[in-house]
Amino acid sequence: MHAAILTDTTKCIGCRECVIACKKENRLPPDLPRRWSRDDGLSARNWTSVVEGPGGAYVRKQCRHCLEPACVASCPVGALTKTDLGPVVYDARKCMGCRYCMMACPYGIPRYDWDQTVPYIRKCILCYETRLKKGRQPACTEACPTKATIFGDRDELIELAKARIREKPDLYVHRVWGEREVGGASVLYISDVDLKFLTYNRELPPEPMPQRTKLAMNAVPFTFAGVVAAMAGLNWIIDRRRKLQEHPEGDEAPQEGRSNG
Ligand code: SF4
Ligand code: SF4
Ligand code: SF4
Repeated sequence: MHAAILTDTTKCIGCRECVIACKKENRLPPDLPRRWSRDDGLSARNWTSVVEGPGGAYVRKQCRHCLEPACVASCPVGALTKTDLGPVVYDARKCMGCRYCMMACPYGIPRYDWDQTVPYIRKCILCYETRLKKGRQPACTEACPTKATIFGDRDELIELAKARIREKPDLYVHRVWGEREVGGASVLYISDVDLKFLTYNRELPPEPMPQRTKLAMNAVPFTFAGVVAAMAGLNWIIDRRRKLQEHPEGDEAPQEGRSNG
């Protein structure tokens, strides 16, 4: 089975039960009042949000758990991993805060945890540790009262999505978002409105982003890349040394998928 989520925006009533369930499941602290450059409700303390789409449609936003994730390809220390089950998970103990993943993600998902002295990246991890590994569905899909967002096997959800479009061809845009763009994703959408706004009105190409990331990285001058890598490495060493001094018994860095806020 390849774990996936299908969100049908025509069924969403904007109740935000999915958002509340995610915060509870992942022990995410309350939000602080701030102004973000991207006003989409996502932050280190909010791994999913409900945004307003064209015509006032409610649209859930979360990590798409890409099949060939650009965030994984861009991370120089392997802090992000695509699991066999489907989720793209994150290990804060490896993260050095370089934010390459934030720049690489075509959906603008990973967020920096600005409230920490040594910030880390935060994003949805598809409830991998607390639920998926135990055979349970994610907290958000379980909580949705209208079944607007559901959990299942990716192939089966794509079939279901296409069947719904066939049944109501006048209602839906004839497209399953996440089936093909940038190599496909584990979080899929069908809708009665164009969801291009989720990718800043860019049409994503079908080929995976890692190929493009590789090309872009190859184009970066060797000396510049060397300086960036050296600075990032130095930062990582200083941070780990500081933590070892403060906590000589072990690593106090936040655990995988948990908030340390
Ligand atoms: S949506 Fe972004 S953060 Fe999520 S797996 Fe894809 S590239 Fe990574
Ligand atoms: S899958 Fe889990 S971590 Fe991701 S948005 Fe849903 S509840 Fe949150
Ligand atoms: S819980 Fe379901 S209906 Fe409510 S906002 Fe989330 S996706 Fe929409």
